[in-house]
Amino acid sequence: VARCLDDTVLPSTPLFLATRRCPPTPCMDITLAQPRGFCAGVVRAVDIVERALQRFGPPVYVYHEIVHNPHVVEDLRRRGAVFVDHIADIPRGSRTVFSAHGVSLAVVEAARARDLQVVDATCPLVTKVHLQAQRYAAEGCEVLLIGHRGHPEMEGTRGQLEGPAQIIETIDDARSVEVGNPGQLAYVTQTTLSVDDTAGIIEVLQQRFPQIQGPALEDICYATQNRQNAVKALAGEVDLVLVVGARNSSNSNRLVEVARRNGTRAELVEDPAQITADQVRGAGRIGVTAGASAPEALVQQLLDRLREFGAQNLRHQPGVEETITFRLPKTLREPASESKPQAGSH
Ligand code: SF4
Repeated sequence: VARCLDDTVLPSTPLFLATRRCPPTPCMDITLAQPRGFCAGVVRAVDIVERALQRFGPPVYVYHEIVHNPHVVEDLRRRGAVFVDHIADIPRGSRTVFSAHGVSLAVVEAARARDLQVVDATCPLVTKVHLQAQRYAAEGCEVLLIGHRGHPEMEGTRGQLEGPAQIIETIDDARSVEVGNPGQLAYVTQTTLSVDDTAGIIEVLQQRFPQIQGPALEDICYATQNRQNAVKALAGEVDLVLVVGARNSSNSNRLVEVARRNGTRAELVEDPAQITADQVRGAGRIGVTAGASAPEALVQQLLDRLREFGAQNLRHQPGVEETITFRLPKTLREPASESKPQAGSH
């Protein structure tokens, strides 16, 4: 018999009025967002560490969390990956993977100085932003970086430029930023921002600096946009949105914000086992999604947990089918016998 989460929502039949228990029929409907979870950049980054461990054997050092999810990191750690926050902590000459978030030129140089054998798991869409920022800088532009201070992707992008670059995190930053020459100005954006917030920031910058250059579309990646669009559509249909993702995952936090801004209660779920009946009380219709770095296994664990609370109906949101994949670095594509990894190779 399903346990009801909110016994105030009961059919007014004598049986249920008498027992004040939920009927053995569904009292909680789940809608699974489409798309959700791993993006192509995360699949590639995790694949790179797994293949490096298979090909070269442990330890494989990984600079920063390969992706922002503690479950993924812990799983790889158990298999022999060693996660470090400083290049200086990696023994000279070791196999090293750069995370999906990308790194600065200083990190590349530090790795070279230690003769590290690098495999670069930077997402190709982040690399595209790096190249774009460098192109603007080469044209003599001051480059504004729209994104979150302290996020590894922004620090990596900032560190791809020779000179200093200002980070614009909010509309207020856009209103107050002082630039050297408004006629020589450009912007790039972090890939995992809120689409709506970023549009607002760009609008303010364009009003203040009409000559500012930027990409035709902002650099927010396809995966971030698709997941946010799915949550927007979901928000109107459900009472609660649960987002599987880590606290330090930018795109997961944005999904929570998007749901809330569209008028729906939303919670980030780092560990499905921790979800309590109180957190889902009163929600007859629950939407479930996952950030780009959250594995599907966690989504399934959350569904199991919700079934314990009485969820029976599961529906899949119609949505975009993503078919994008990114090629692995050449070092890991070749058969093992032909592999000749070199220091600094990508
Ligand atoms: Fe690449 Fe976007 Fe995934 Fe980040 S969220 S790894 S930019 S595809």
